[in-house]
Amino acid sequence: MTSLTDAATEADALARDAADPLAAFRDEFLIPPHGDGQQVYLCGNSLGLQPRATRQALLDELDDWSRLAVEAHFRGKHPWMPYHAEVREHLAEVVGAQLLEVVAMNSLSVNLHLMMASFYRPTRERCGILIEKNPFPSDRHAVDSQIRFHGFDPASALIEVESDEAGGTISASAIERAIDAHGARTALVLLPGVQYRTGQVFDLKAITRLAHAKGCMVGFDLAHSVGNVPVDLHDSGCDFAVWCSYKYLNSGPGAVAGCFVHERHARANLPRFAGWWGHDQATRFAMGPEFSPTPGADGWQLSNPPILALAPLRVSLEIFHRAGMSALRKKSIALTGYLESLISEHLADVIDIATPREPARRGCQLSLRVKGGREAGRALFAHLETHGIIGDWREPDTIRIAPTPLYNRHIDCLHLVRGVRDWLAPQPA
Ligand SMILES: *Cc1c(COP(=O)(O)O)cnc(C)c1O
Repeated sequence: MTSLTDAATEADALARDAADPLAAFRDEFLIPPHGDGQQVYLCGNSLGLQPRATRQALLDELDDWSRLAVEAHFRGKHPWMPYHAEVREHLAEVVGAQLLEVVAMNSLSVNLHLMMASFYRPTRERCGILIEKNPFPSDRHAVDSQIRFHGFDPASALIEVESDEAGGTISASAIERAIDAHGARTALVLLPGVQYRTGQVFDLKAITRLAHAKGCMVGFDLAHSVGNVPVDLHDSGCDFAVWCSYKYLNSGPGAVAGCFVHERHARANLPRFAGWWGHDQATRFAMGPEFSPTPGADGWQLSNPPILALAPLRVSLEIFHRAGMSALRKKSIALTGYLESLISEHLADVIDIATPREPARRGCQLSLRVKGGREAGRALFAHLETHGIIGDWREPDTIRIAPTPLYNRHIDCLHLVRGVRDWLAPQPA
């Protein structure tokens, strides 16, 4: 066993970073300072870092507003009128969708409600929503309130799939059994692409196939998938998906979120909560009273888009376009695998990894559970924070760590593992 403090261990991490074809992307981000240096930022699962180009993109919009005012809708550097369409191509790329299937709008929970207004159409015989047990609370609130809104009772209509694996993950067969058992009374299957607490990846295509076979609609929450793992939304066949853009997509706090509606619904004129920006573009400014939706995901837009909030998304998606999801995934598998091997070799006595061990069943995040329990976990988390090593804490006992391939390095992983060792056995000064 090599020692964590060995020069050779550090040289190995640095050599891996030197061989990384995506290494230059780190320089496109602002890494928060810590003391005289920089943080070891491993929290892109919660809030991605700011691209350097974002500031200028915002200033450009402020300039256009001051110079051109209303005319910036057509004559701006990035004209405001078709602005949401400027992000469409790269957005479609990052989620594996056709152009008319995606739109950037609102925030995640809002989009989830808008999608359920169209795709959760409960009847007395089929009023269920099938979700995971212990989903992200906002998703749970949204589902619960939709069921009540339609006059049904969550006690019977909310169907929860329980975790059946160590660490809190859910096997494919548990999902299959649940859909088998409850599919006939389920109107909507709503699952995450990547589970926020465990980092587990779900098989969107397999779930969609099972759920459609039972006559259910299928939606996915991709908050922890987008920009983390390659997603093929069109090919998955799901009916809709929603996500936020401030996590792996690095588009800033509360950034404009995304929404996917499968092509098969593009012209279906589904019931929806409508607004003028979803109206057919050709006749939108005729300002007539009748609503005629724009085909595709655009038809779910309510309001004209917030340009100042969209600018960071445009910048960030352009970075993903240049890096490429498949190259990012390749690095991600190596980087997270490296972190996992360091933990297994040096910290197995103190830390359990709750995230699946198979690279195909996880993204970049590893969920670490401290064997000493909650108090020890809190103390470790505080120790890391004091030393500028940033992950995040999830009750009751989990530290989430996400080495993101756009701006994290192997040496960051080594710093984290050394930080944990140091907490266990402080080195003499
Ligand atoms: C981050 C996250 C949210 C947050 O919702 P907002 O509407 O963006 O505040 C919701 N659901 C999941 C699964 C998340 O990971």
